[in-house]
Amino acid sequence: MDVSRVAVVIEDDEDIREVLESVLTASGFTVHEYSSGVEGVDAVARFKPHVVTLDLGLPDIDGFEVARRIRLFSDTYIIMLTALTDELDTLQGLEAGADDYLTKPFRPRELRARIAALLRRPRGHDTPVAVAAADALLIPAGSAPAAGLPVTAGAIMVPEQPLPGIPSARVWEHNGLRLNPSTRTADIGGAEVVGLTRTEFDLLQMLMEGGRIVRSKAELARKLRFEEYDTGSFVSEADEKVVEVHIANLRRKLGDSPRIPRWVETMRGVGYRMTPATTLS
Ligand code: CA
Repeated sequence: MDVSRVAVVIEDDEDIREVLESVLTASGFTVHEYSSGVEGVDAVARFKPHVVTLDLGLPDIDGFEVARRIRLFSDTYIIMLTALTDELDTLQGLEAGADDYLTKPFRPRELRARIAALLRRPRGHDTPVAVAAADALLIPAGSAPAAGLPVTAGAIMVPEQPLPGIPSARVWEHNGLRLNPSTRTADIGGAEVVGLTRTEFDLLQMLMEGGRIVRSKAELARKLRFEEYDTGSFVSEADEKVVEVHIANLRRKLGDSPRIPRWVETMRGVGYRMTPATTLS
């Protein structure tokens, strides 16, 4: 169990910074606050926080650039703060590597809800990703877990050490795409997929676990909050939009086509699932 939770707040508005600080402190975080993007990036490198709240409009570099820089070395959970009116900003923020967003002005309880979701989320090197739901589902032929896969350093965060006493998660394989939850790496025909964020990786894993089972956007959004698929808790249109953007980013990084997908198939108006397995992969 992690006892020292760290948050980095990157926000140039003092009032908002205070609200963020008090909510995060009340949730048990040690909070480091910065009012510029460059200082914020440095602080993330230094403190390795669980969560970063990131304002879009900063005096030096903007929040998009901050997110991109952070993503070069960290898979910390980034919550972007954007203006209520600008959906485009939100989408660009997710594209730049943010996991979630809050629109300003926000209520403290909205932030608390995000934090609660975040705390349900296992950290990459702390907890194995649950694969229990996969037991009843198909595994494509030839996907026996490959022991001793080389762990390569890349933009994907790799656990520093294997966890003692925890069985290694299975490796998922589909049409030449292989996903290894224990190392949090993905490769296509042996070539590593670089730059997947933690959220994108998690979404891909959910879809691969499901195989041909369609996962609705609401289910995926819930699962990203580490709720079960079917709790029926409220998922807003905005939450579903977040899933859409993450899936679009995932596809771009895989080089997959939404129209003629090799891996992730869109079920229009419903959700996503994996494509049929081809015999040759
Ligand atoms: Ca600002």
